[in-house]
Amino acid sequence: MGRSKRVDGSNLSSETLDSLRSSIKGKVVVKGQSPEEEYRPLLERWNRMHIKEANIIVLPESEEDVSATVKFVAEHNLDVAIASGRHTYSGPSSGYGLIIDMRNLRKVSVDAEKMVAVAQGGSLAGDIESAAEAVGLRPVMGAVNATGCGGITTGGGIGNLSAQYGLVADNLLAARVALADGSIVIASEEENQDLFWGIRGGGSNFGLVTEFTYKLHKADPQVYSGFFMFPPDKVDAYLELMNVMHQDYVMKSNGKFACNGFTAIMGGNPIPGFLVWYDGPEEEGKKYIQPLLDLGPIYPGSGAEMKCHTETTDWKQFEKMFPPQFNRLVGTSTQISYPLSVDILKRTVQKFKEVVATRPENLSVSKLLFDLRDYSKVASVPLDATAYANRREGCLIGVDFIWDKEELDKEMMQVTKDFIAEVRDWIKQDNEQKGIADVGAHVAATTLYALVSDGDEKLVSVFGPNLGRMKELKKKYDPGMMWDKWYPVDPEV
Ligand SMILES: Cc1cc2nc3c(=O)[nH]c(=O)nc-3n(C[C@H](O)[C@H](O)[C@H](O)COP(=O)(O)OP(=O)(O)OC[C@H]3O[C@@H](n4cnc5c(N)ncnc54)[C@H](O)[C@@H]3O)c2cc1C
Repeated sequence: MGRSKRVDGSNLSSETLDSLRSSIKGKVVVKGQSPEEEYRPLLERWNRMHIKEANIIVLPESEEDVSATVKFVAEHNLDVAIASGRHTYSGPSSGYGLIIDMRNLRKVSVDAEKMVAVAQGGSLAGDIESAAEAVGLRPVMGAVNATGCGGITTGGGIGNLSAQYGLVADNLLAARVALADGSIVIASEEENQDLFWGIRGGGSNFGLVTEFTYKLHKADPQVYSGFFMFPPDKVDAYLELMNVMHQDYVMKSNGKFACNGFTAIMGGNPIPGFLVWYDGPEEEGKKYIQPLLDLGPIYPGSGAEMKCHTETTDWKQFEKMFPPQFNRLVGTSTQISYPLSVDILKRTVQKFKEVVATRPENLSVSKLLFDLRDYSKVASVPLDATAYANRREGCLIGVDFIWDKEELDKEMMQVTKDFIAEVRDWIKQDNEQKGIADVGAHVAATTLYALVSDGDEKLVSVFGPNLGRMKELKKKYDPGMMWDKWYPVDPEV
């Protein structure tokens, strides 16, 4: 069947829109017809660069509503996007046609005995974390509570608990999925196993998940967590410490210690820092942060303490790092193997500093990230077990250039692409010297983390050797390519 040209719904008559309204309990908000104060806030996204004026926004109140809306989309061949937490870096939850906005479907129930959470498809990570924490359990989710479970689960999902329990997607037990014809099916190890394979890393290529069932884990209520920042003259020592932190601390903690480097620019100079998280008591946690204290002096306000796990993911604590006027960004990433080439890290920080220096006023809150987590649990799952294809150990280097003015969008997108291309090039050359397979080599896992990417990468870089099976499944579950926003796989290409 292949891709057919989808329409944005602007020509639908009011009778047709009324038929949609009368088929669901939830709201249908229409551009130019619904009050602006109702319509406009629904377009808001974490990354304002991707705000698009959708013609129709549907806010389902139930799975039946989702099903009826998908049938409507199919009948009128509409362009459709799924929005859950609206936290994606790139723009798949935006579009000019119809948005299925899952924000009113956030009910979570926890079975403490079975250690399972059932979450509606629009739940935020924090909804599940809070419900689980109330009974002494934890789900695997990402670093912040505000991301939707919809995007993070279907895209893979990495969090502080991944070193112990794998990806968010690896902790998915079952899902209810709305397919392109509006039917709802179960995907699990028992039913529709191929679909279950596909929704764990294949994004929304095969359908909209209306309900996720997750495995939960026993946990102490508190963890030892915080951040440490250092003066600019410590940058070289900080980068040299990364291999030590990874090898001698992270990798010797049985998955309990997560340590991520971040670098910001202040007054034209790089300010290095580490976010730390230890799943255990303070006395033990202190041993893991000793090298950071030795690296000191640390900036005032730095430090770690015992906190509830949900406090460590609370978006409010990060909000001050992202003042509201800085709300346009391209986040992108690549992966570098261990032992890290300190020379590449230094060049990356230097390059980052140079880019920010070109527009210090506009780019001042930009961040560079070095993810030093233990990925052996994630990498222990066979590459063909799920669609997710980035199962290898390595340090994720993420760059978030964040700016404040719409007129910089085009330029900054290019700057970011050039930046990451150059870093990838350095890594590629280094890998060649060391004989390590690289992105696009087809034989190994990819080195791209699609959830932190510009949305524009080659499909083979996202799905690696799983791309062939993705195409087969697309042919089966979405031959008309209704779901075409998040790395859509075209079976014909
Ligand atoms: C501040 C911040 C911190 C982050 N931290 C982490 C982190 O620690 N670890 C990590 O792995 N990622 C992280 N991310 C990336 C994040 O996981 C992705 O951006 C994810 O896509 C967000 O999901 P969402 O539902 O909020 O996104 P949305 O923008 O609402 O949706 C994005 C896309 O996800 C798919 N999708 C969403 N809901 C569903 C559904 N119910 N069924 C099927 N498909 C669906 C659709 O393709 C949709 O277009 C972070 C992002 C931000 C902005």
